[in-house]
Amino acid sequence: MPELPEVETVKRAIADHALGGEIKSVWQSGKTMRWPIPHDIEKQLTGLTILNLRRRGKYILMDCGNGQAARLTMIVHLGMSGSVRIYPKVMTPDRQKHDHLILTILGQRGEENTVVLNDPRRFGGVQITAFGEDDQHPLIHKMGVEPLGNAFSAVYMKTQFNGKTAPIKSALLDQRIIAGIGNIYASEALYLAGISPKRMAKAISLSRLEGLKDSVQQVLNQAIAAGGTSLRDHVQPGGEIGYFVQQLNVYGKDDQPCPQCQSPIKMIRQTGRASFYCPRCQR
Ligand SMILES: [Zn+2]
Repeated sequence: MPELPEVETVKRAIADHALGGEIKSVWQSGKTMRWPIPHDIEKQLTGLTILNLRRRGKYILMDCGNGQAARLTMIVHLGMSGSVRIYPKVMTPDRQKHDHLILTILGQRGEENTVVLNDPRRFGGVQITAFGEDDQHPLIHKMGVEPLGNAFSAVYMKTQFNGKTAPIKSALLDQRIIAGIGNIYASEALYLAGISPKRMAKAISLSRLEGLKDSVQQVLNQAIAAGGTSLRDHVQPGGEIGYFVQQLNVYGKDDQPCPQCQSPIKMIRQTGRASFYCPRCQR
């Protein structure tokens, strides 16, 4: 499932190929994803210029308008299995099974790029909102702070976790508290911080939360930077965006030696989600 760094990588790739371009044509499958794709999306988007690409949590926000005046924001969620393919001008786009939205974009130098949203399980989706109102959109307005933004701090976590009985791993996944962290980076951040995923969120001291904040930002920034490193040639021959190779310490590594102490990494289930940790290094 794409988490914050993967969504950020996709956002940057789309920006690389589509920013400033004009949407020339729109095709949609007509299938219902998490929500129906707006039936008039073709009418709404065709002819508009892509003015900005932003990210909020795991959502990509594309601001479009006439000239420099933004009019609407397209909100894209990749869900569990969503992916984006980009065909730069030299590639011939091919339609594949589970493609749901295809935008043909005319670049400023007359080149054509094609952006395709594919989603086999259809847990992702596309919505359109008036420009400037995305903060109030039902998908976004209850979302917690951005973990790489200024509002994210140890004090913020302490306040949010206060009175909650959830273990820290579940609290990190709560999108109403912090936006964009998923299962992989929650496990990795807790490992770096030396905090057990089972520890009650409210029982963690402010100084340890200080360390956790740094760890969260470190794992996310590293993943984004790794994505950024390979961004120059992130579009693969089939149009797929190449995610970076994740440098993981614990996630998916049950029974393998901990990189620090060589003890076997343990896997447990917490509210149905797998957590990976080192029982010796994480307390
Ligand atoms: Zn260890």
